[in-house]
Amino acid sequence: MTALVLSGVTKRYGAATAVDAVDLAIPEGTFVCLLGPSGCGKTTLMRMIAGLETPTAGDIRFGSETITHVPVHKRGFGMVFQSLALFPHLTVGDNIAYPLRLRGTSRGAAEARVRELLDLVRLPGVEGRAITQLSGGQRQRVAIARALAVAPRLFLLDEPLSALDAKLREAMQVELRLLQERLGITTIVVTHDQREAMTMADQVVVMQNGRVLQMDRPIEVYRRPATPFVADFLGQTNLLEARREAGGARLASGALLPGLALPGEAALLSVRPEDVVLLPEGDGPIAARVEFVRDMGSAVEIYLRSGDARIIAHREAGADVPPAGTPVSLALKPGAATVFPAGAA
Ligand code: ATP
Repeated sequence: MTALVLSGVTKRYGAATAVDAVDLAIPEGTFVCLLGPSGCGKTTLMRMIAGLETPTAGDIRFGSETITHVPVHKRGFGMVFQSLALFPHLTVGDNIAYPLRLRGTSRGAAEARVRELLDLVRLPGVEGRAITQLSGGQRQRVAIARALAVAPRLFLLDEPLSALDAKLREAMQVELRLLQERLGITTIVVTHDQREAMTMADQVVVMQNGRVLQMDRPIEVYRRPATPFVADFLGQTNLLEARREAGGARLASGALLPGLALPGEAALLSVRPEDVVLLPEGDGPIAARVEFVRDMGSAVEIYLRSGDARIIAHREAGADVPPAGTPVSLALKPGAATVFPAGAA
């Protein structure tokens, strides 16, 4: 069943269009990440879903109800913001109980629910602590517990983990996903971090300039990006200009890729680094030189130069990689290139 449907949702601020005619249908129980660079409109879209902004045009439906103009406190959604917005002068327990007490829940029932929520976010027994006595990651969990206190119909999080250090952020991504799976709650997270989106999302919505470019499972978006921008934003890629030629495609660097049929005279190829094969000089169609080797321990990233083009190739941990300066040949794995029309953005 579809939980949330956006039709032609638009937000303008004066002459500027922050969100431009967005259509989205989000199935119940799905974990969705709104992903895109700074300024693409993801926060504005989220704030309209939450009821903190009113669309300039378009409609938002939740279940069978049109909620476009329903005020925020009547939507029954739970929200977590980057700032967390916890009350520093209240204890952890009083913070989490706050929305329950607002609804008239008795003190005893609220206390029981707080204990249940603290167990859920794996922070048992801290209800009496001051917020200031908690670490950043613990505060994050308290904000999540508070947002879940009244069993929201929809769970909205805007860059919830961006204040945390990299290691804690990655751990919390997994926890948040597991928590959402356990509760089965429809969840929308705003992020500009593609790894975060790939870790958590059933569906990623990639945005640029106020528009949705693609919505699909993360691995589908990775394998079949709708535009060169999407290819580049979700993971690393090599974008190579090519022209059609008898028997194949000619790269701007001069290399001929035999058997690669282009749909038009000119095209832009997207090739993932793991699909670039490194060969001894003369053994493959693309002549290149190793410029820089980045050994990450878990994998090796090789930066190469072919004519004017920079090409990145990835190898598995411990692979035997020629040092910087070595002339090599490159080949592309069969079917590896996603082909876009020339001039696509
Ligand atoms: P970030 O990741 O930097 O938060 P974002 O993708 O969430 O970016 P939004 O915050 O939604 O982007 O902003 C989209 C566009 O709308 C931006 O160009 C922004 O300057 C503009 N904008 C957002 N809010 C307002 C406002 N209240 N008044 C005027 N312009 C705004």
